[in-house]
Amino acid sequence: MENKLRLFNSLSRKKEDFKPLTDGHVGMYVCGPTVYGDPHLGHARPGITFDIVFRYLQHIGYKVRYVRNITDVGHLENDADHGEDKIAKKARLEELEPMEIVQYYTNRYHAFMNALNVLPPSIEPHASGHIIEQMEIIDKIFENGYAYEADGSVYFDVEKYNKKHPYGILSGRNIEEMLANTRELDGQDEKRKPYDFALWKKAAPEHIMRWKSKWSDGFPGWHLECSAMGAKYLGETFDIHGGGMDLLFPHHESEIAQSMAANEKMPVNYWMHNNMITINGQKMGKSLGNFITLEEFFTGNHDMLEQAYSPMTIRFFILQAHYRGTVDFSNEALQGAGKAYERLIKAFGRLDDINPAEAGDLDMEKLRNSCYDAMNDDFNTPILIAHLFDAVKFINAAADGKTTMSDEQKNALQNIRKDFIVDILGLDLETSETVGGSGLNDVMDILLDVRKKLKEEKNYAMSDFIRDELSAKGVTIKDTKDGTSWEM
Ligand code: ZN
Repeated sequence: MENKLRLFNSLSRKKEDFKPLTDGHVGMYVCGPTVYGDPHLGHARPGITFDIVFRYLQHIGYKVRYVRNITDVGHLENDADHGEDKIAKKARLEELEPMEIVQYYTNRYHAFMNALNVLPPSIEPHASGHIIEQMEIIDKIFENGYAYEADGSVYFDVEKYNKKHPYGILSGRNIEEMLANTRELDGQDEKRKPYDFALWKKAAPEHIMRWKSKWSDGFPGWHLECSAMGAKYLGETFDIHGGGMDLLFPHHESEIAQSMAANEKMPVNYWMHNNMITINGQKMGKSLGNFITLEEFFTGNHDMLEQAYSPMTIRFFILQAHYRGTVDFSNEALQGAGKAYERLIKAFGRLDDINPAEAGDLDMEKLRNSCYDAMNDDFNTPILIAHLFDAVKFINAAADGKTTMSDEQKNALQNIRKDFIVDILGLDLETSETVGGSGLNDVMDILLDVRKKLKEEKNYAMSDFIRDELSAKGVTIKDTKDGTSWEM
């Protein structure tokens, strides 16, 4: 298929035709989680956004090497160069080894991404496993004259760098503004300028995660890990770098500066950033009491939630917005998404029972092309979903006998289901998930099996009891010649 993919590049601030570096191969790096807390909505959105990119690029024929890291060292409180390491702090509070914290939350992250049907990346490197690679970049930056040492710590000399290369090209800031917007150094600070950032930090005596280096016993600065791991697995310049918009500055801006200072090369061709999530119009934050973990969404166990929301409802809800738009979570919006999702899956489920006849009034080629056009236009999933609902209307009309559908149309719609709903959007076809949570299908299968056995043993009192009890809970059982089905 001819590639017409255009994607919005945060660097040029416009949509560009996508031209990968090596024909047929795409390198994509996405900043992964700092694993010190339970996965929440702030993890779901980039997880799903870049899962769509990963799935779609593969669907249109690229071979994709997708690297998503685990940050397990060097990310200090408030994303600053001061303060305690986030993981070390959690380890101290829980009286555990930092690596126990890392393992526990990495496992949790994987489990929840899996529930959201987010495919695992090709490589998932840990920052702590790439200390030597990070030191090598510091050496190169030193050699090229853009780093300085102060009492065992090493900082990036932004002012010097900015004389040759603009610092701020990604975020659109300039260093004069940055200086005006930051506090004056208080004299205690080792940095020459407030906007300089740490490449290596000397560890305080109580700091656990530390490595020997020529500068001090210490640990790398947060921005450095992604430069090191991106270059190691994807080369000094690669195709796509993604992450949340909150990472654009200073994290990604500093990655560009580090790579330019070390290699005189732009590290990335296309920068992609997903927008943030709000809850009832407010930014999500622990202090605001609106911090909801994915587990709380899936179980409904949070004061702000009226019910549990299945992983597929959350996924569908996120996909109903374009990744560069904001998404506001509320019970009302989630319930609406759950219903729409169910309508979509149920309609496509009815497709298989339709007997082909005369062709009805829906141009399949046009529909399929419109679906591709939506995805080619910077992964516009809400437009794609709108096109899928044109198909929903047609399928329901045909299933209700209000129109007819030809064999070709039926085949075309089955292919649209497979390609767009399952492969590209990564949606699960089990509708009961949206109302009852995962696992309900398995339980219902067991229950219906038991009922079948009871009937075979002519224990009609018990088999009717199961049917009536389920009916009282809103589950309808239908016995047909092909077996038993159920509906909520
Ligand atoms: Zn990163």
